[in-house]
Amino acid sequence: MEFSGLSAQDLKNILIESGVIDEEKLKEALRYAEQENVSLSDAVTSRGLIKSEDLTKLVADSANVPFILLSKNMPDQATLAIVPEIVARKKMIVPFKKDAAGIHVAMADPTDLETPNFIERKEGVPVLVYATTIEDIDTVLEFYGKGLHDILEDTFREIETNNSKSGEEEGAQQPIVEIMKGIIFQAYRNRASDIHIEPRERGDSMVRFRIDGVLHDVSVIPRALHPQVISRIKVMARLRTDEHQIPQDGKMEIPMEEGEENKEIDVRVSIVPVIEGEKAVLRLLAERSRQFLLSNIGLDGENLKKIKAAYEKPYGMILVTGPTGCGKTTTLYSILKLLNNRKVNIMTIEDPVEYDIEGVSQIQVNPKAKLTFATGLRSILRQDPNIILVGEIRDNETADIAVNLALTGHLVLSTLHTNDAATTIPRLIDLGIEPFLIASTVNIIVAQRLVRKIHEDCRASEKITAAEIAGRIGWDLAEKMFEVKRTAPDDAVYLYRGKGCEVCQHTGFQGRLGVFEIMLIDEVLRQAISQNKDAGELRELAKEAQMVTMMEDGLAKVKMGVTTIEEIIGATKV
Ligand SMILES: [Zn+2]
Repeated sequence: MEFSGLSAQDLKNILIESGVIDEEKLKEALRYAEQENVSLSDAVTSRGLIKSEDLTKLVADSANVPFILLSKNMPDQATLAIVPEIVARKKMIVPFKKDAAGIHVAMADPTDLETPNFIERKEGVPVLVYATTIEDIDTVLEFYGKGLHDILEDTFREIETNNSKSGEEEGAQQPIVEIMKGIIFQAYRNRASDIHIEPRERGDSMVRFRIDGVLHDVSVIPRALHPQVISRIKVMARLRTDEHQIPQDGKMEIPMEEGEENKEIDVRVSIVPVIEGEKAVLRLLAERSRQFLLSNIGLDGENLKKIKAAYEKPYGMILVTGPTGCGKTTTLYSILKLLNNRKVNIMTIEDPVEYDIEGVSQIQVNPKAKLTFATGLRSILRQDPNIILVGEIRDNETADIAVNLALTGHLVLSTLHTNDAATTIPRLIDLGIEPFLIASTVNIIVAQRLVRKIHEDCRASEKITAAEIAGRIGWDLAEKMFEVKRTAPDDAVYLYRGKGCEVCQHTGFQGRLGVFEIMLIDEVLRQAISQNKDAGELRELAKEAQMVTMMEDGLAKVKMGVTTIEEIIGATKV
């Protein structure tokens, strides 16, 4: 047993003060600890000077942590689920009660402050710490069910017995399927975001889960099985099993049965050749039901209302714009998900199809088969859709068909490559669309960027002056967004920053978020577009109609402590 928050000297003092061990015996124990290279706590317990339970009680007492016997306080499954099993095993901590006061956890090491602090920040409720024995923790851990390590060990043994019986590998396929099922299910149960299966120099391969940003070693796959496991992953992700030299990417859907619900999770697969063989990384995406919520991607308040107003119209165009990798597809899918009910026929044509959406017919652009956005759209029309998602408008022909669809009673969603909302109009004119047609079809234009989110667990406030803010964004914006005055440049403003920690790899950031500029095409703008007004004029008119610019939306998110000024400036700079 190790007490992480206690020095050997502290422990010595505690033992002497307690009077349980006299100084002579303690000296012997210290010598033994040094010789055998074990901790003092292990030395005193293994030499029978004190029982492990009594030692924990002593240490808990000195740390003012109450002692508890878990055998009389067994947790239910829901409480247990607060801490992922792998973390519980590694840190010897189990949650056993949740009430108005907070989450009650029992730990074998009552001097470990880091783990309860971490849970407290993550769950957002107080964590009350109790000390208990290792034996009690072990008993509770069994309630998590069989750990992955045990499941895999059983399967490996089964394969060995089968192989030695038949001497062939034929029978091995089913156990490999079981191994993969076991790994993915355990990762899901432990709320892991990624599974790494990495061959090592010594021949076997390490299975690791990333949980809350930290990689944990979980189990080891024997050398002989690694190629079969990789091959199985390739089959599941529909990748080439005979290709071992180049990286391959794919995806798969895994059904997860939990209680009454039947859930399906999407898994992105990446296989990369490394010196020792092939390494697989499986990213577990959020459950379908939790994916693609507009509020998740940073669309909120007035902006969210504008988007809702636009998609409630049965026809017209919803355009999302921005550079590559700014999250346009996620926004479109989020809107599509809201529109997806059985009363409408939705079809998409995409390059590539990034996510499968249930109940939606999705077509993949394939130039080799002469299936382009334009030809695909023509064939889609014969399927009588109400709503059509066109991955991208990048040529005259596609623009023309999309506008015609919108004119003939369809709701068309698409993306364009433009810097902000207003410049989308001249871009469509460049693509050969008449201004009056743009005016009568476009409902809304969403321009967006992605910025990094401050890591919540290491977020800290930072004092800067009004003048410093103005130095970065100018006085006009500073006064509008941060309640400062140019007449009082020394006034303090509090902003936030991630200090950096192990979880966020010392970047201070975790996850990303969209910043948006939403141009609702109202009557005034319709007129202006028909009159061929330029982007600058259109932008001014939209601002008069309360359009929040991307910069303003970003700064509002800075004020809320979600991201930093540098992120916003970097992302919105053209
Ligand atoms: Zn951090």
